[in-house]
Amino acid sequence: MKEASRKDSNTIRNKLRERQLSLLGEIRDESDQRDNQHLIDLMSREPGDSGDYSIADEVADLNVAMADRQIRELREIDAAFQRIGDGSFGQCVDCGADIESARLIAYPTAKRCLSCQERHELLYATESHPTL
Ligand SMILES: [Zn+2]
Repeated sequence: MKEASRKDSNTIRNKLRERQLSLLGEIRDESDQRDNQHLIDLMSREPGDSGDYSIADEVADLNVAMADRQIRELREIDAAFQRIGDGSFGQCVDCGADIESARLIAYPTAKRCLSCQERHELLYATESHPTL
């Protein structure tokens, strides 16, 4: 993330973390009681920048019903933390250009710059399979 300031990067991390916690909270509310302690443990963990573990995978392992959408989003958040860790965060996966920091602040899980995202959505808009 060459272009973004340190303040932007903190904002983005905080947003990712907040979203992660709120998703885990939703899953906790939807899941039955026996899974709650494990989810609370996950929520108390700080996401590492190394990407050596995946909160999304751990949640998926819990077999929480109805959590598909949340798990998909948690995977995107895990991937964003991983990109922060390996230094590729903020680079478009398609063209390699820096993603505008305003876009990253609005959508911290964005993997593409605006023009590549628009092209991607046009190309895949009619397909139903997940693009992750
Ligand atoms: Zn691009």
